[in-house]
Amino acid sequence: MGTLVKITLYAPDEHAARAAFRAGFDRIQALNATLSDYLPESELSRVTHEAVGRPVRVSDDLFTILQASQSLAVATAGAFDITQGPVIRLWREARRTRTLPDRAALAAASARSGYRHLHLDASSRTVSFDIAGMALDVGAIGKGFAASEALAAITRAGVRSALVAASGDLAFSEAPPDQPGWRIRVHRDDIGHTDIPAVLLLSNAAVSTSGNAEQHVDVDGRRYSHVIDPASGSGLVEDITVTVVARDGLTADGLDTAIGVIGVERGLALVDRHPGAAALIVTREAGRASAHVSPSLRALIAAQPSR
Ligand code: ADP
Ligand code: MG
Repeated sequence: MGTLVKITLYAPDEHAARAAFRAGFDRIQALNATLSDYLPESELSRVTHEAVGRPVRVSDDLFTILQASQSLAVATAGAFDITQGPVIRLWREARRTRTLPDRAALAAASARSGYRHLHLDASSRTVSFDIAGMALDVGAIGKGFAASEALAAITRAGVRSALVAASGDLAFSEAPPDQPGWRIRVHRDDIGHTDIPAVLLLSNAAVSTSGNAEQHVDVDGRRYSHVIDPASGSGLVEDITVTVVARDGLTADGLDTAIGVIGVERGLALVDRHPGAAALIVTREAGRASAHVSPSLRALIAAQPSR
């Protein structure tokens, strides 16, 4: 999944700690082998070739991700869309070469994309694609899922207080010993006048952040995000950073990217429809930042334990 994963945990002794780390990292490694779009032999890569025009059975892990992704695609009318792999690849190349993708190539990539061309059957756990040459990219949701899954493996190994960080995607269980919660930074200090604490004390939850701070390409004074708008095939040009708190990483990671594409108003409405989810959306225009907060995040802030 092209990222560094860091695990922090509290265990009674070294033996227990080592076993829990092993369980967490093994789970990450297994998911990487399933979900990577870099590895041609990953299940994700194979299924796009094998399941053209015919249903192919997939693993529980892949099916879980595909199902969550398709339901977000429907909820956002295709703004969140993991079948944009061909388009996303062109933008990945654009970041490397620092030139915008060719228009004709983008149009051809868009023609091989679209969540309506991916079909799932929950009863048989099968997948099929309408068009040859489609490509899946679960970069928007896979790391959050992996963080939660690694955390579950650590819990099964007997450690109750742990935090898994797959770059901007965090999943954590019970608070560290004698602490009111994990200290989770939810925004940078430069968002101007705000009553939103930069650090929240949280436990048994997941937090994901999506934005263009790290991955983007600058061309002719414009910054294009690594998150693309499937409607135009373009990297987002709006400066928007989204942080989502949710019960699990699959939900948090999916929502952060989806909200980035649909924007503040529709994004807050989407969060409202996900019980247990809360969002902070920071937009920047002409150097000025504005923060937008879901009612659920307000409630979470009000319920913060005293430090
Ligand atoms: P990060 O990778 O920084 O955690 P995100 O969770 O927002 O950030 O994921 C961004 C990745 O999602 C992109 O690099 C790309 O692989 C994928 N992606 C980009 N645009 C979309 C989209 N509209 N729908 C679904 N996935 C997308
Ligand atoms: Mg995401």
